[in-house]
Amino acid sequence: MTVKVYIGLGSNLHNPEQQIVSALQSLREIKASRLINNSGLFRSPPMGPQDQPDYLNAAALIETELTAELLLDQLQNIENTQGRVRSRRWGERTLDLDILLYGDEVIHSERLTIPHAGLALREFVLHPLQRLNPALNVPGKGKIIDLVEACPASGIEYLGPIND
Ligand code: ATP
Ligand code: CA
Ligand code: CA
Repeated sequence: MTVKVYIGLGSNLHNPEQQIVSALQSLREIKASRLINNSGLFRSPPMGPQDQPDYLNAAALIETELTAELLLDQLQNIENTQGRVRSRRWGERTLDLDILLYGDEVIHSERLTIPHAGLALREFVLHPLQRLNPALNVPGKGKIIDLVEACPASGIEYLGPIND
């Protein structure tokens, strides 16, 4: 059985655009999965510590036969391959890959909260999701259009399609 999964991508270190392009390439190569589409590229101000560069963000839609936990393993491998180092909370990073939605499932496990916990408060998550699927419904939270409307403005900017 395949599940539609939305993945959030973010980078603000070491050529962020290239990091996002490389990450999309790696998403293509995840076993038992298929990359369907991406949102295009967005730029957003940092969340958390302000003494770090702006972020580039995107969202991707994949179809997978993997469980959410096995998919998280794959995503963390990709982060590590691209030099992710965990220092301060919400600090600068080469690559962050979050599972935003896993089908219409609601998951609360030791390793996973799905829908992603920060989703409704983050323009850099909501805007890419909306561009990927304007009719999206977020389990337990509502329609993407209403979530975008209610989200505090942060100054996100759409840059255009991703050239890969
Ligand atoms: P945030 O989760 O607020 O966006 P972050 O992305 O900087 O912050 P990380 O250091 O990348 O946080 O991840 C910390 C842990 O979050 C991971 O080890 C993972 O187990 C957990 N986690 C919980 N829910 C999710 C999810 N939906 N997608 C990815 N990781 C998740
Ligand atoms: Ca994150
Ligand atoms: Ca993360």
